[in-house]
Amino acid sequence: MIARIIDGKAIAADLRGKIAGEVARLRAAHGLVPGIAVVQVGDNPASSVYVRTKSKAVAEAGMRAFDHKLAADVSEAELLALVAKLNADEQVNGILVQLPLPPQIDSQKIISAIDPAKDVDGFHPLNTGRHATGLAGLVPCTPLACVILAKTVHASLSGLEAVVVGRSNIVGKPLVQLLLAENATVTIAHSKTHDLPTVCRRADLLVAAIGRPEFVRGNWIKPGATVIDVGINRVAAEGGESRPAGGAGKYKIVGDVAFAEAAQVAGALTPVPGGVGPMTIACLLLNTLSAACAQKGLPAPSI
Ligand code: NAP
Repeated sequence: MIARIIDGKAIAADLRGKIAGEVARLRAAHGLVPGIAVVQVGDNPASSVYVRTKSKAVAEAGMRAFDHKLAADVSEAELLALVAKLNADEQVNGILVQLPLPPQIDSQKIISAIDPAKDVDGFHPLNTGRHATGLAGLVPCTPLACVILAKTVHASLSGLEAVVVGRSNIVGKPLVQLLLAENATVTIAHSKTHDLPTVCRRADLLVAAIGRPEFVRGNWIKPGATVIDVGINRVAAEGGESRPAGGAGKYKIVGDVAFAEAAQVAGALTPVPGGVGPMTIACLLLNTLSAACAQKGLPAPSI
């Protein structure tokens, strides 16, 4: 093993500890207890795991969690009504609607209905636009997690050649904006990119957000590069067919990067699990804290 393993679990625990300290200070000084509403539609097993983990982290940070579980056949109108109720609820500073939503519901319509000031996922078009134009706003948690983890290796990302594989609205695209803001030179690659291995080999900082198990091979990585693996893929534990996150049966979780190969080449590497995932949850708490402060007219938390 050559690469230093970026311990996302420990870095996230440290951040969550600082957030809990700030929450305690706000409660004592201003009687403010940040609250987040997590809305889950249906009972997709992977979503249920995420929701439980998030709610536990929220409670441990001293915040309030308001969990709403709706039936899989709930109508779009009912979900919009719940979002409107949460928008108006003063105890709720952040709203997270767990994606994906069932087909009868237009996800974009729901995201756009969330009050942008409570949009702790950072997916509302207003926040996306603010972010893309360099204005302050809530930033999506997973891309923020990637940048914080990269900065545990590089004091500055300025001038680094960064390659992001994946152009989703929730990871790849917002991550590009964050990396640009850090003055990295950014390439975004996707399924139509020609000669992806060569593009990846240019990267001082390589981020994989693809959703394909162990897709990025060791020989795609520039020696010494920092590799951030966003992927969460369930694969059969004893060989056999791989399945998307959420499938039942014996499985293990792997990332989008072939970890054992990458560890022989990279300078630093996030594991899966234990890398980006725990940091994403810590960033959700950070966003909720920031949203609560902004809504009460208090200065942004200095974390
Ligand atoms: P997504 O919406 O499915 O997007 C996947 C991206 O990968 C697309 O841009 C797609 O390109 C690209 N891609 C697919 N096959 C490719 C190929 N053969 N070569 C190059 N690019 C390819 O996925 P996502 O929501 O961004 O999630 C990506 C992964 O991150 C998933 O494993 C997901 O579970 C994980 N994730 C983890 C966290 C976390 O907290 N750790 C959070 C969110 C997501 P096209 O655009 O051309 O189709």
